[in-house]
Order: sequence, then structure tokens, then C-alpha cells
Amino acid sequence: MPSAALPAPISGPPGEPTGGLPAGLAGGLTGTAGRPSPPRHLADLDPAGRQAAAAGLGQQRFRADQLSRHYFGRLTDDPGDMTDLPAGTRAELAAALLPRLLTAERELTCDQGTTRKTLWRAFDGAYVESVLMRYPDRVTMCVSSQAGCGMACPFCATGQAGLTRNLSAAEIVAQVVAGARALAGGEVPGGPGRVSNVVFMGMGEPLANYARVLAAVRRLSDPVPDGLGISQRGITISTVGLVPAIERLAGEGLSVRLAVSLHAPDDGLRDELVPVNRRWKVAEVLAAAWAYAGTTGRRVSIEYALIRDINDQAWRADALAALLAGQLAHVNLIPLNPTPGSRWTASRPRDMREFEARLAAGGIPVTVRDTRGTQIDGACGQLAAPARAATAPARPATAAINAGGSPGRAG
Ligand code: SAH
Repeated sequence: MPSAALPAPISGPPGEPTGGLPAGLAGGLTGTAGRPSPPRHLADLDPAGRQAAAAGLGQQRFRADQLSRHYFGRLTDDPGDMTDLPAGTRAELAAALLPRLLTAERELTCDQGTTRKTLWRAFDGAYVESVLMRYPDRVTMCVSSQAGCGMACPFCATGQAGLTRNLSAAEIVAQVVAGARALAGGEVPGGPGRVSNVVFMGMGEPLANYARVLAAVRRLSDPVPDGLGISQRGITISTVGLVPAIERLAGEGLSVRLAVSLHAPDDGLRDELVPVNRRWKVAEVLAAAWAYAGTTGRRVSIEYALIRDINDQAWRADALAALLAGQLAHVNLIPLNPTPGSRWTASRPRDMREFEARLAAGGIPVTVRDTRGTQIDGACGQLAAPARAATAPARPATAAINAGGSPGRAG
């Protein structure tokens, strides 16, 4: 196993706010187990914090706004571009508040260049991945919230490696800024564009890194100059079902979408597929989800990876329909993307059709998630950066994988 993949202890040091989670499930915080924290960055701070940081550097407070406008508005962190700042202070401000956090180690594209996965190396050598997916009507960035993941779902590539550490808010935002920059610069086929959607469905369990994910959501959605101005309605937080954190999220006054990775309607199977179910059962997770829908008015997305002969039986579709009936919910069926070494594979097409039809017959809105990025190991659950970073160093920096994949269905 590559050393970067070694799991770190997932309990934080004393005093770290856990979002109401038991210590073992709160996720380590950045800096856990002696790991140094990523350098402080403008995107870690709220507007008041940024002004205070500018003042702390002996600068006038409005310099923080100017710097923010460069980063969030013009998508630049190059002091050479900041001609509205006095030449002498540019470099100092940028060095103090816009350190380069992530370095693109490798970029892979498919779907004629409209799906693009980036492998990022962080300041401490931790690896994370993000995926940009351009559709005719939107651009979705799938981002990582942790390096690795502590939730240990057996069908998920990231879950196999354990948690390395939480990402900082700015490390999360940086993944989106990079995508926005590529789009603005016309690097993605389809002409200049913007990021319209962000899904926390890359590596990590976002609600185990609660405070930083929340800060990132605010930076993503605050209007320029305070953030990137992406609508909260276009942002999805996907969770294994950390109930106290879902309850807390419902009280934040946000309008982000919640996705719950259910994968089984019954506790017996879900205990195996999503081990955190041993702590919070299906009924508790769904109760928290419906409360979230009630508070926010947002339909909850129920994620269900269809695994052949494991969770794809007709009776489970009926059981799922019964659980969801009458709720503000929508089911996303995801054909399992098999991970290396896994004994599981995707359901047979006829079983998928039957599963979908039974949900629909039960009155449950349902779609089958597209499988974008499969060819570049960029599809759901395939992000496992450290393993590939160690085993495939010879791959070229940009490999255009053939573009024959089907566009798939709505995701
Ligand atoms: N930890 C969060 C977010 C990351 S995973 C969560 O679990 O929701 C994003 C989605 O991809 C989740 O629904 C997850 O269960 C699903 N997923 C993981 N591995 C997969 C795989 N091999 N095939 C299909 N979906 C997978």
C-alpha cells in the first residue's frame, strides 16, 4: 500500500468541535495526529476574517476585498495580475493570503474533453481528486472534502484506504476555482463557461469535516467579491448519514441539496454496505433527511448504487418505495462502478430496469445516474488517488482517453 493511503486515527484532538458526532466519527481535523495544517488562505476566512488578516499584515482592510475580487471574481492568484494593488504590497499580500494549496499532478479527460479528472497533490503530499463534467445545460464539479475517507464502505475505492486528513475550506474551494478557471479560459470544449453545480461526492465524508465544508459552501455561494457566486441550490452535500450533522445542517439557513447514500432499505444489509449504519439506523437517517427537507423545502436525493445480487432485488425496490412514499425525495440509481479487487459488480440491465420500474410504480421519482468518467476512474466511488499515484507514475500528464462513451442519462 502506498504510504499516502495509510489511515490516520480519525478522532480529533481534545477541543475540536465535532458537529455533535461521537469523537470517532467526527473525522480527524486538519492537523490531526501531528499533521501540519495547510497554510492559511483567503478562502478559509469569512469577510471579517479576511479584513482582520489584512490588518494583521499592516494593510488597510479594503485590500482584503481587492484580493478577494481577484481570487473569486477574476480567478487569479498571480500577484502580477493585481495592478490595482500597490506594487510593493501585492507580493506580500498574495504570499500571505493566496498560497498555492493544490498542485495538479495529472489530468485525464474523456467524453470529448467534457469530463476531466484532476489529481491534486496538497502541501503535505496528500492526494485528492476532483472531476469536472460539462453537460449541454450545466457544468458540475465533483469535489473532495477529505483526503481519503474514514467511513469504510466496502464498495467504494476511497473507503478502502482510510482517512488521511480533512481538507481545509480553501483546499475544497481551490478545486472549484481551478475548474472555473479552465472553463473561463475556454479550455473545456463548448466555449467559455461557468461552474453551475458543485457536488460533494468526491473523496471523503463531507459531514465528518463539517465546519470546513460549511465554510467552503459559503465561499462557493457568496457573491463576488466574497465568494464565487454559485447558487446554493446548485450545491449538493452527499452523506453516509451522520444524523447529528444532518440535523445541524438543517439549522444553517442554507438551501443546499442533501443527498443520502442509502444503498439498502433494510438495516441488515445497510450495516454491511455503509458501516456507519451500525450507529444510525435507516429509520433515523431518513427521519433526519425528511426533517431537512421540511426545513429547507429541498427535495432530498437518495443515492442507491445497484450491486448485482446484493441490493438489487425486486423486494428491496418495493421496500425502498414504501420507505420513501409521500416524502420529498428523489432516487438516484447508480450502476455500481466496480473497484479493483472488489467481488461486487453492477446489476444486470434487466434488474436495474425492474428496480427503477418498481420505484416509479410506487410513485417515487427516480433517475439512473450517468456513468461519466468511468474510463478515467473518475466515476462515483472510483476516486482513490493515492493508489493510482503510486502505481501509475508513467501515465502522461494529460491522457485523452477515447471518447466513445455514451453520454448517459441525467445525473
Ligand atoms: N461520503 C459521501 C460522499 C462521497 S461518495 C457519501 O457517501 O455520500 C459519493 C457517492 O458515490 C455516494 O453515494 C457513494 O455511496 C457512491 N459510491 C461510492 N462508491 C461507489 C461505487 N463503486 N459505485 C457507485 N457509487 C459509488
